[in-house]
Amino acid sequence: MTAHVETLEFQSEARQLLQLMIHSIYSNKDTFLRELVSNASDALDKLRLEAFRDKELEVDTSDLHVALDVDREQRTLTVRDNGIGMTRDEVVKLIGTIAKSGTAEFLRTMKETRDAAASQDLIGQFGVGFYSSFMVADKVTLVTRRAGAAEGVRWESTGEGTYTIEPVADAPQGTSVTLHLKPADAEENLHDYTSTATITQIVKRYSDFITWPVRMAPEGEDDAEPTTINSRKALWARPRSEVTDEEYTEFYKHVSHDWNDPLETIRMQAEGTFEYQALLFLPSKAPLDLFMRERKRGVQLYVKRVFIMDDCEELMPEYLRFVKGVVDAQDLSLNVSREILQQDRQIQLMRRRLVKKVLSTVKTMMTERPDAYSTFWSEFGRAVKEGLLDDFENRDAILDIASFDSTHDAEKPTTLRQYVERMKEGQEHVYYMTGESRATIENSPHMEAFRAKGLEVLLLTDPVDEMWVDSVPGFDGKQFQSIAKGQVDLNSDAEASEAQREEFAELLTWMGETLGDAVKEVRLSTRLTTSPACVVGDTHDLSPTLEKMYRAMGQELPQVKRILELNPEHALVTRLRTALAETEDRAGLADTAELLHGMALLAEGGELADPARFNRILATRLERTL
Ligand code: ADP
Ligand code: MG
Repeated sequence: MTAHVETLEFQSEARQLLQLMIHSIYSNKDTFLRELVSNASDALDKLRLEAFRDKELEVDTSDLHVALDVDREQRTLTVRDNGIGMTRDEVVKLIGTIAKSGTAEFLRTMKETRDAAASQDLIGQFGVGFYSSFMVADKVTLVTRRAGAAEGVRWESTGEGTYTIEPVADAPQGTSVTLHLKPADAEENLHDYTSTATITQIVKRYSDFITWPVRMAPEGEDDAEPTTINSRKALWARPRSEVTDEEYTEFYKHVSHDWNDPLETIRMQAEGTFEYQALLFLPSKAPLDLFMRERKRGVQLYVKRVFIMDDCEELMPEYLRFVKGVVDAQDLSLNVSREILQQDRQIQLMRRRLVKKVLSTVKTMMTERPDAYSTFWSEFGRAVKEGLLDDFENRDAILDIASFDSTHDAEKPTTLRQYVERMKEGQEHVYYMTGESRATIENSPHMEAFRAKGLEVLLLTDPVDEMWVDSVPGFDGKQFQSIAKGQVDLNSDAEASEAQREEFAELLTWMGETLGDAVKEVRLSTRLTTSPACVVGDTHDLSPTLEKMYRAMGQELPQVKRILELNPEHALVTRLRTALAETEDRAGLADTAELLHGMALLAEGGELADPARFNRILATRLERTL
């Protein structure tokens, strides 16, 4: 039989990423070994699980391990596992392409970043897994056979655009990755990866906790029995005092496939009838797919030290999807399934405790590590706030750890607690306004009187803010009040405002009739100091942004009519009132009414129903002034 060798092209994203690796700017090249050992360990986990579930599968699981081999003459390093292996199609899909969502964005950002340190950061954030081999090797050969399959596959590439793939008859089950090493180069941080001492050191440093044995023959005794070089202790089962921060960090990188250090490590231990241990991490960077539909979530589930599943969604709610780590439960069955997990009361209790622990950890960070907290909030706050919509039990806890932009400080966000402490005498509400950006909100006319009176307003610019502010009753007994909705009574002089209402009654009625369907009502405002008019919603109306969001999602909505408020102190408004009382020709005045309404819409960054008509009226008006 002649072997059939095919040459295939890498997917274009993969090609670009490989180029980055070949001409690597990533300084810590040793990390390639962590990635290969991590993949081998995952493959062993998967095989054990599959053999356990599928009794028909004919595999030997008695000596699952990772073996490292060096050949000093050929200058190769081989990482071998007898794990699950891959089929030909899996090799093409998993090694030839990058399925990671956000890759295209990553590469775009990468291209725009000329600065080496920033690019390095980006690679770290993205994590390149298997491709990191090309930082240290100019050719990589992978031989693999899927557990249960008759035939194996050989894959080879120099990372330059294409790879070859061919069937191999006698491949052992599992995967071996052979790196044809580049010459060692101290300046490039390329160490001698044929040195047993170097390899041992790297494994101890990055992969010590891997529960499978990682074996290697001792230096100079290549024929001797290989020895196990990792301690294999599950980190979460060791007393905290025995584990160094660096070990936690490396473990985090293994479970999360992230190259950055974690922001926070969370340990939990529950004893009693339902015993479990958890080792959770808050990442320091949001993943690129945090807001993508196909994102994964959840922690790894172990039962009595045995890996059971990745991305266990049953243990973490959607809004904490960025939390990584391991939960090891003592009292579950090894063949526990997703369906069982969903119904298990103990699992639900465990999840509740994990959630509370994560939230309380963030709360502690606020006081003990304020910088870490602000990093956390700017990376993940948008996701965490989603919890306000469905996790009623923890609503207060979430509000407690939230922070928001505010008119109080242009640089630093505020917590609600701090806001409440600064509230003015007699102020009953927490004022906020939603909008697309800080600048649009700050420049909107609704803000004027609040600014003049020194009342603090929260500036909410995340899309999710539009949703939760309507459903959350309040914080610390204080209700949230939009400054662009409902009646805001900032005028304390009741008598004067009554007199004003009478004075303007005719104007208000006439304008209401003139603008007709375009508005719900016309009334006087206490929100304005310099603008003539603004538009506001009723207390329970959808905000314009939310309305836009719903329409973008394809929902049909009745038109939301808004209220036009006039500033009784503004010359344009007072003159319009006088003109109305004195003129017979009201048609000309109707144009002014329309302009006023249009200006109010523009001032809050809104859109005109008929911009052409607005322009026409405005042009005619301007012409007459010349
Ligand atoms: P990640 O581990 O983050 O998924 P990698 O680039 O490290 O990304 O690996 C890509 C995929 O290739 C893995 O998800 C796995 O499915 C497959 N793979 C890599 N190495 C092995 C291996 N030794 N055995 C089986 N599958 C592997
Ligand atoms: Mg990997």
